Amino acid sequence: MRLIDKVALVTGAGNGIGAATATRFAEEGALVIVTDINPESAQTVAAQINASGGRTEAHAQDVTDEALWDRLVAGVVATHGHLDILVNNAGIAITANVENTSLEDWRRTQAVNGESVFLGTRAAVKVMQERGGSIINISSIEGIVGEPDATAYNYSKGGVRIFTKSAALHCARQGYPVRVNSVHPGFILTNMVEAGIAALPEGQAQEMYERLLGEIPMGAMGEPLDIANGCLFLASDESRYMTGSELVIDGGYTCH
Ligand code: NAP
Repeated sequence: MRLIDKVALVTGAGNGIGAATATRFAEEGALVIVTDINPESAQTVAAQINASGGRTEAHAQDVTDEALWDRLVAGVVATHGHLDILVNNAGIAITANVENTSLEDWRRTQAVNGESVFLGTRAAVKVMQERGGSIINISSIEGIVGEPDATAYNYSKGGVRIFTKSAALHCARQGYPVRVNSVHPGFILTNMVEAGIAALPEGQAQEMYERLLGEIPMGAMGEPLDIANGCLFLASDESRYMTGSELVIDGGYTCH
């Protein structure tokens, strides 16, 4: 029970990495606030966790909504007394290069993947600064290396990486016991990766899938649980001397 007595909020937890992280946290004793833009998927994940003996609450949350962030975090503190862990996980990916990305898609990607991380971190730091906490920002290997068909995504995830260090330094300088770290998943089999491959023109999808596998030194895509376990380490006191750092979980992809 590595998260006993902790209250955690995980965004985009209706699917994929967020759902696995919420589940893993609950298994380790945390009370988990499961949020997603889609209320049904948040409720489904929360019900599954509760049925296995975990403790959760489901909330609809569009992470780009500034006022909702403040209301939600204040509500968690009013109801449960504290918020100890925030995982800024919700994200979207658009398969497009620098020439064919529309400004609308660009802005939407920065709002969901980038601005939301700022809004969540700002709201959490305010309520964690006395008691302490761990903020985990889900970036990507694509916040470290470039991908020609993910130009808006690259920009957003690179921003999450360096924003994390800025927030970590601020908390340390203020003497807040709040740690802020980023996680950089490689290719993990979720709806996001499946949809990204499926969006490619016919015939290229299988080729892309095989190319990706060939580029992963460990020869396989990861599973959501691989990332959830990394988040668990950063959420727990076992990582108490880590802040502003980057946890890469990618089967070796960024080694070369
Ligand atoms: P996923 O299966 O698509 O899950 C993302 C979740 O976020 C979905 O439930 C989605 O809801 C929700 N969401 C989308 N927009 C939202 C918004 N504005 N507010 C709140 N929730 C929103 O994707 P995933 O692969 O688990 O990705 C989770 C995080 O990991 C993302 O930040 C992603 O960029 C990052 N990541 C993933 C990979 C990978 O290979 N899978 C690699 C590196 C980084 P709907 O489905 O209803 O839209």
